[in-house]
Amino acid sequence: MNPQAGYNQPYQGGYQNYGGSPPPAGQNRGYGGPVPGQPPQQNAYMNGPPSLGPPGPKPSQGGYGAPPSQKGPAGGYAQGGGDMQNGFSHSGQTYGAPPQQQQYGRGPPPPGQQQYQQGPPGPPMSSVQSGPQGPPMSGIQTGPPMSSVQSGRPGPPPMSSGQTQMVNQMQTMSLSQQRPGPPGATMGAPPPSSMPPSSYGQPQGPPGSSAPPSSMSMGPPSSMSMGPPQMGPPGPMYSSAGYAPPSSQQGIVGMQKSTESKPKPNYTGAPGGYQGQYGPPPSSPGGFGQPPPPGPGGMGGYQGQPVAQPPQQRRLDPDQIPSPAKLDPDLIPSRIQVIEDDRTSRGGQQFATNTRGLMPPLVTTDFLTIDQGNCNPAFMRASMYNIPCTADMYKQCNVPMSLVIKPFAELKPQEAQLCVVDHGAAGPVRCNRCKAYMCPFMQFVEGGRRFMCSFCSCVTDVPDTYFAHLDHTGRRIDVYQRPELACGSYEFVATLDYCKQRAVPAQSAPQAAEGAAESDVNNQPPSPPAFIFMIEASYNSVKNGMLPLLAKHLKGLLDTLPREAGQEESSIRVGFVTFNKVLHFYNVKGTLAQPQMLVVSDVADVFLPLLDGFLVTVQEARAVIDSLLEQIPQMFSDTRETEICLGPVVQAGLEALKAADCAGKLFVFQTSLPLAEAPGKLKNRDDRKLLGTDKEKTLFQPQTSFYQTLGKECVAQGCCVDIFLFPNQYVDVATVSEVCKLTGGQLYKYNFFTLEQTTQHHNPMEAVNDGERFIQDLTQDIQRPIVFDAIMRVRTSTGFRPVDFLGNFYMSNTTDVELAAMDCDKAVAVDFKHDDKLSEELGAYIQCAVLYTSVSGQRRLRVHNLSLNCCSTMADLYKSCEMDAIMNILSKQAVRSVVNSTPKAIREQLMAQCANILATYRKNCASPSSAGQLILPECMKLLPLYVNCVLKSDALQGGAETSTDDRAWLMHLLNSMDINSSGAFFYPRLLPLHNLSPDKDDVPTAIRCSIERLKDNGVYLLENGVSMFMWIGMNVDPEWIQSVFGVQSVAQIDIDSPTLLDKEGTLLSLDNPLSARVRNLVQQIRSQRSRFMKLTIVRQRDKLEPWFQHFLVEDKGLYGGASYVDFLCHMHKEIRNLLS
Ligand SMILES: [Zn+2]
Repeated sequence: MNPQAGYNQPYQGGYQNYGGSPPPAGQNRGYGGPVPGQPPQQNAYMNGPPSLGPPGPKPSQGGYGAPPSQKGPAGGYAQGGGDMQNGFSHSGQTYGAPPQQQQYGRGPPPPGQQQYQQGPPGPPMSSVQSGPQGPPMSGIQTGPPMSSVQSGRPGPPPMSSGQTQMVNQMQTMSLSQQRPGPPGATMGAPPPSSMPPSSYGQPQGPPGSSAPPSSMSMGPPSSMSMGPPQMGPPGPMYSSAGYAPPSSQQGIVGMQKSTESKPKPNYTGAPGGYQGQYGPPPSSPGGFGQPPPPGPGGMGGYQGQPVAQPPQQRRLDPDQIPSPAKLDPDLIPSRIQVIEDDRTSRGGQQFATNTRGLMPPLVTTDFLTIDQGNCNPAFMRASMYNIPCTADMYKQCNVPMSLVIKPFAELKPQEAQLCVVDHGAAGPVRCNRCKAYMCPFMQFVEGGRRFMCSFCSCVTDVPDTYFAHLDHTGRRIDVYQRPELACGSYEFVATLDYCKQRAVPAQSAPQAAEGAAESDVNNQPPSPPAFIFMIEASYNSVKNGMLPLLAKHLKGLLDTLPREAGQEESSIRVGFVTFNKVLHFYNVKGTLAQPQMLVVSDVADVFLPLLDGFLVTVQEARAVIDSLLEQIPQMFSDTRETEICLGPVVQAGLEALKAADCAGKLFVFQTSLPLAEAPGKLKNRDDRKLLGTDKEKTLFQPQTSFYQTLGKECVAQGCCVDIFLFPNQYVDVATVSEVCKLTGGQLYKYNFFTLEQTTQHHNPMEAVNDGERFIQDLTQDIQRPIVFDAIMRVRTSTGFRPVDFLGNFYMSNTTDVELAAMDCDKAVAVDFKHDDKLSEELGAYIQCAVLYTSVSGQRRLRVHNLSLNCCSTMADLYKSCEMDAIMNILSKQAVRSVVNSTPKAIREQLMAQCANILATYRKNCASPSSAGQLILPECMKLLPLYVNCVLKSDALQGGAETSTDDRAWLMHLLNSMDINSSGAFFYPRLLPLHNLSPDKDDVPTAIRCSIERLKDNGVYLLENGVSMFMWIGMNVDPEWIQSVFGVQSVAQIDIDSPTLLDKEGTLLSLDNPLSARVRNLVQQIRSQRSRFMKLTIVRQRDKLEPWFQHFLVEDKGLYGGASYVDFLCHMHKEIRNLLS
């Protein structure tokens, strides 16, 4: 084994299965096309559609073709002359199979397709046994002692409140690392000659190449009090070449080389490279690999204060440091510690929203919200609760002034659900001028006869029917009888004024703005929405098992369609289409004995061949639908068709909704690039060489505007599009995801999907698991609360306004966010800017109103209100920042710029913003002190960590084995993520399992994402909302292994065995408490995420380990991303540059 070969190899066409483990080797062979050696298929469909016929009972009236043995156009497949446009009536009689059917008989796929099939799908990780992950601290091993930073300074100056002082830690960290092998450290460095850290198989650059490029912003050594060699690797990384492909990393190698002769005391044991990283934990106290000391032990420097309370002064006194060994990364700001501190101080409590600008607990804290006039933070969370009064101040601080809105978030069962207010025909009371809805912020004047709008200050008459007297404090006496006066969130029943004009063909005009609500004569209540399932019926979808699996499970899922609260049966209608390069519509009218198929082969101008019987409610047509879903797999079991179209599929769904005059959602199941001659045809334009270069943006721009145009048409109809992809090759996610993005939809992806259970796969758990993952995702997607045909407007009080929106939606003007659908998991981020001065006294108000159609076809308005404070000092501003919300929007902005910027520019912009935010704080809020100190605001002390995680994430900086599609998919995913999801996505949760108590059912406290924290006698679960891993150390207690895996030792766990996991993708159930506990924990964690996470078992030193390590985000990245410590040092330097 050449341990370093892995990262040098050119990409071989494989796709990393992001959602789980790497693709099985060789699996894509034979998938994208017919099996070699099969006879040409020209005849397969020559005589009508024989293979469409189910072997079962013959369809009664022209349903499906006869079994293959029958000659001639079977039964109802009367030839319609092929002109499908003229051949239909609405009665659902026979439709001829068009002559074009012969196209089915296409031979092997066109050459274009085959290029994907070469070679095994590069099992990206399997060959990566390489070289050691650079120890996280390696960037700071050497160089001038940190003490020089402080030299000449008479002791640390006093710290101002809310600060966190880092310098002493850094100093001692460095010192401790310089110690040549402390006696206690058993982790002696691996022999330097055998493992140049972080080189990953790079050719060793000449020593000279270690010099940072001249473009680097790092100064000469003398200018850096921290000592440049300590910066080591980060240097080049921040330069233009930094994150770039391997060849440019020579500088890093060189840097490493120059330092690698120094012992690295913090590494354990086993001689010989890679394995040496895992050893027994250091025996000396406080070494690496120890969990942070519980409680306020150690330095306590980051025992953060609850954000809502005035942060206490934090100061690290060197005199109190017992020993330098204590000062290690445990003392740089920890996400885990921040989360735990907030849980401790605010967890389990009630959060009453009766105060303006009150900061909620963190998203990771479990608390109950009592709505007392501001909305639950689950609906809207601000990036800061004290917004700057002036544009100048805002510009200076550089902190985003934003809101992350999740208007249909699910509330906790214990929290009061939203009240629905019905004002009858009069409709909701609104401000005359800005049209804001009645809310707790409105001020009643003139004895209650008029009210003043808190958003625009206009005074509006109170309608007679709404009048109430005021009490002595000026409040209406009925305030607690009216949710819109007492609550931050509520709903109104919308009157016809809020309904779309209907029965007008081709709703080409943008829908009436939510704010307008003009009275149109034709306004009518909407029809209940529809779900249309559009399933690829091709060689691929049959071969990989998607089609049969879907048909099997869809039957049951149709019983769980979302319904209105209190409703017994769902009002949602369903329809079914199968497609390859033609479309098959199905008549499933309840009165039919058998479903009927109608083929549309004219995909250039697709139309709907039937109206009556296409969309039905499940209860009225259960038997016919069941029959259809049973027959579909048989009908296509022999199909050889490999070409598919996509544009006409979505167009057909849109036409169907238009014809039915309703909103709805298309579920499209697709395996490959739409190569068939049809609108929306795509070509393979993947060029991985461009990734990481200035031209990479071209890969993420759509290759045609077709899907954007189509998406806009869909939005006008309230047609949401979800696409489920099952690719084994490039499918151009960047292009097709546009239609999902614009319509409030979602794209799912299952690389190398298969149901086969064979141990020949690289990772056979995929075979067991991926079907389950797909079905679980689909279940969630079908069942979750959703609204349709929505339009959202965010109103603000005078002085600031929304200027930028991020999420899955379409905007035809600058104010209205149009959402063909919106579900409970999707968030929209909004960025604000000033257009005037704000006042500390008046504060700032935000109202988000969403007009929508419910699952039963009711038109409603949902209103969320939030009041914020305004401030004129930086200290106030920095005290009220919501770090998780800030990162949500910063990461979305960064990812959005991928399509029109360069990787270098994006990195630099994000790092510059980070440095600016911290430098402004340092300048304005921290007491004067040595420039050598890194001082972070309490609320934002994790900013450098998060920014580094975003920079390193696969969404922004794919590694060698992240395919173009995977990156495009991750970018798509991030675009609509809520705050909780983005937090875990960028900083995964790592949970120790080896000391789980079987008697409890809680989620154990997480540990920091660094290899240093893993013990080789430990077992850990890692999850980021997309993937889930269980890492098992080599020296785990055999009893634990026996209880959970049923074998005697770690070595005996057959991670390649398909029987390791049960059909739900969880560990097999063994009859003991620990087994149950581990299984339950996995399920519990899955239930907290909006996507099903496949569990991948990784044994220490196994081939999959580097893939797992990729998620240990505090460490140096596999592809050049800086370690947390290195990045912090770099930020420190940047801040000092800004201040000097
Ligand atoms: Zn107003």
